[in-house]
Amino acid sequence: MIHSTVIPEPPSALVPVLGEEAFFPVRRIFCVGRNFAEHAREMGMTVERGRPVFFMKPREALQPGGGPIPYPPGTSELHHEVELVAALGAGGAALEEEAALGLVFGYAVGLDLTRRDLQAELKAKGLPWELAKSFEHSAPISPIRRWQGPPPRGEIRLRVNGELRQRAFLSEMIFDVGQVLVWLSRYFELMPGDLVFLGTPAGVGPLRPGDRFEAAVEEVGTLEGAIAPARSGSTLSAA
Ligand code: MN
Repeated sequence: MIHSTVIPEPPSALVPVLGEEAFFPVRRIFCVGRNFAEHAREMGMTVERGRPVFFMKPREALQPGGGPIPYPPGTSELHHEVELVAALGAGGAALEEEAALGLVFGYAVGLDLTRRDLQAELKAKGLPWELAKSFEHSAPISPIRRWQGPPPRGEIRLRVNGELRQRAFLSEMIFDVGQVLVWLSRYFELMPGDLVFLGTPAGVGPLRPGDRFEAAVEEVGTLEGAIAPARSGSTLSAA
């Protein structure tokens, strides 16, 4: 239906699909926290096995490709978290595991970029994480690879300026892809276009202006990019 709007409508958020002309249109971005035991420990948290920790990023956080990504304001401790991302091609609620896995269109590799200094402050006060997690460009993502069958279980890794920072196997996830989707579907009606960032392994650390990163998930893909160099006159303290 043709309609007019009083201000411009928000643009679509589109992610390329590997080897295809058509794009994957993104609806919502769900994220799982503390899904690898070693990472939970390095964050000083106990491993929570009852229910996954969930949070969200807005669509404006989506950054197809590796940038260069502007260093965000309001932090001097931007951290990398390399993650497997599930892209849903269908929806549903209150699902069993087999049906939940049947929603998956494909997988990508992404970064859950985090203002770690702010996150630590918010966690200490018991406050929500949006300032730490939900800023623009905080969710860079590779092209999505169509996928059928069991979810990927191979290696996930991240290099920064050539140095290996994060490396683990997806089989180490506390809640696997099916379990995460089952839990999400108990609280949300999952919809086609939803993305789910599935949690990061240990080894998170700082990204500074000018750093180059290379993220990879075995059999899924790679995401290469960079943090934009500091502008002259910037007040950023990136020491
Ligand atoms: Mn994360």
